[in-house]
Amino acid sequence: MSFTLPDLPFATNALEPYISARTFELHHGKHHAGYVSKLNELTANTPYAQLTLEELIETTHGHADAQAVFNNAAQHWNHAFFWQSLSPTVQEVPEPLAIKIEAAFGDIGAFRARFVEAGMSQFGSGWVWLVDGQEGFSIVTTSNADTPLTSDQRPLLVCDVWEHAYYVDYQNRRAEYLKIFVDRLIDWENVSRRLIE
Ligand code: FE
Repeated sequence: MSFTLPDLPFATNALEPYISARTFELHHGKHHAGYVSKLNELTANTPYAQLTLEELIETTHGHADAQAVFNNAAQHWNHAFFWQSLSPTVQEVPEPLAIKIEAAFGDIGAFRARFVEAGMSQFGSGWVWLVDGQEGFSIVTTSNADTPLTSDQRPLLVCDVWEHAYYVDYQNRRAEYLKIFVDRLIDWENVSRRLIE
């Protein structure tokens, strides 16, 4: 089995002017594609090639001798999840989800502010996540390729805060990119679906 690059769930220009076609051409067409092809190269003719992507991430997590495989596998998974976190149209937060967000953060405005703050506090490359766990919803960040998939928390939503995600459109203005993400770009229908899956 080999790993394949999923198509974007929208046209490359669907999120303009907030995220440009140029960014998606590079981010999906070069960066994500690069992780997938490196992963295939590293796993070809090894037992890793028999595993699903999720199994591969679990198996290699925390093993220094498999760091490169883990990095490319987790980056593949994280990016596929990120594309599915984005919506070309502004969505309202559906009711059952809104109640859980209010329970955890107070209200949707407080959630948005906390998410932006978390993204700004992530030093260097990484990811900002909304996750569901024993204690309800929380916002966590991971560095580099790390992913909550290897934790006991279920990922519901992610924003990529590697510079390649926003540099073309926002240069160094990560806060502006994060604010646009929380205000307009979240696919709340997909977040809801993940909650009940
Ligand atoms: Fe990325």
